[in-house]
Amino acid sequence: MDISAAGTFGQPHTTRFAPSPTGELHLGNARTALFNFLLARQQAGRFLLRIEDTDTERSREQHVEALIADLRWLGMNWDAGPDHEDSKGPYRQSQRGARYDRYFAELEKRGAVYLCFCTPLELEASRRAQLASGRPPRYAGTCRNLSAEQRQKRSLEGLSPTMRFRVPLGRRIEFLDFVHGPQSFLSDDIGDFVIRRADGTAAFFFCNAVDDADMGVTHVLRGEDHLTNTPRQLMILEALGLRAPSYGHVSLIVGNDGSPLSKRHGATSVREYRERGFLPQAMTNHLFRLGHSTSEHGFVSLEEMARAFDAAHLGRAPARFDEQQLLVWQKEAVHRLSTDEALRWLGPLLPARLDEKTRAVFVAAVLPNLVLPEDARAWVNVVFGDLPDLEPAEQQLVLEAGKGYFSAAAEAAAANGNDLAAIANAVRSATGKKGAALYMPLRVALTGRAHGPELAPLLKAMPPGKARERLARFA
Ligand code: GLU
Repeated sequence: MDISAAGTFGQPHTTRFAPSPTGELHLGNARTALFNFLLARQQAGRFLLRIEDTDTERSREQHVEALIADLRWLGMNWDAGPDHEDSKGPYRQSQRGARYDRYFAELEKRGAVYLCFCTPLELEASRRAQLASGRPPRYAGTCRNLSAEQRQKRSLEGLSPTMRFRVPLGRRIEFLDFVHGPQSFLSDDIGDFVIRRADGTAAFFFCNAVDDADMGVTHVLRGEDHLTNTPRQLMILEALGLRAPSYGHVSLIVGNDGSPLSKRHGATSVREYRERGFLPQAMTNHLFRLGHSTSEHGFVSLEEMARAFDAAHLGRAPARFDEQQLLVWQKEAVHRLSTDEALRWLGPLLPARLDEKTRAVFVAAVLPNLVLPEDARAWVNVVFGDLPDLEPAEQQLVLEAGKGYFSAAAEAAAANGNDLAAIANAVRSATGKKGAALYMPLRVALTGRAHGPELAPLLKAMPPGKARERLARFA
């Protein structure tokens, strides 16, 4: 009988994000997590976090903690995971060994697996020989039909065996990938593969598949690099009589030059973007549209994304990560920050000695001109520091306004403080100037620049006497 797995859309979905804690949360994985989160939330389903840490050599606890922190920062929450277990847990594969052992025993009982004593050296030699004769390398089946005596003999030689899945011959494995459409593989193209390593730990194909079944996962949305793993996983599930989820494989993320996103393209981890001051809403808005087309063209919240997410609109073409586009979302996200949020976002960039009110006034004044926190640095200097000498063009502007203009302005500032309306009124009465001729020299004298945030709130944030002092320089 051929295996044929069909989609199960319509029921409330259970999805999961299943990272291997071997490094930082990469943008590609963050997008996978987001899509799974949205797929679950869209239908009031469940979203799980499972840590795939059976590779003890490469897995690190610090990566688990960082992954959790990054996902939380992005605003995703999960219904169960290593930090809050439920009856389907534990959610760390390293703690599920007893379950895997039961399945291994079951597979042995059913004759679906066998022990393989081939050494890495022997496997490599066989691989080379196959490649040399122009055949695709796969396990040659050396240990597939060992007799009990042969097995015992190899055991006595002290070799620790792996466990291989006995891939049935002459089968067609079909499934409907909910991104790529119908898929068909021949079992004869797939060599018997390892499901238990020589050290006794469960290998990826196996634990990933049985965990999905045990945890009631209905939809597996993952990177395209896993597409060819799926027929193997379907065979394991079938051999155990477990229910298979629907699988969908999203295209990988590429950089601007079309090659897979890597360090060469700049920052690739969520941490790097967070540390540069990117906001989670900007990241999720960009990721939401990477390989997923949507009619939502504006800035949306996670709830809105969940409503609008459509698995039928996941793309097969590689999705391009574009930092310029991310910056557009970032600008939008910054404009939406409340004063309190903006204060937290700018954090240590603000001078420590400022009182709370001044901080709030300053932040409200400069926020429309910021994209990243470091952009605030220049305005901190303008408002609280000393101005550098004017550029020639600005110098010219100030000279043309004349001394009378600035003595009226400085006098008004002495009488009224850093109050733009009062200063502008005084200059208007004294000189008759209006519009840009009235305001531009004031802006240049007060900030050293011809452009910037709205002037009145900027002045309000300045220390008392500062406006007068700066205006008097030109009087
Ligand atoms: N641990 C696997 C990975 O990080 C999970 C693959 C999957 O989502 O099934 O690639």
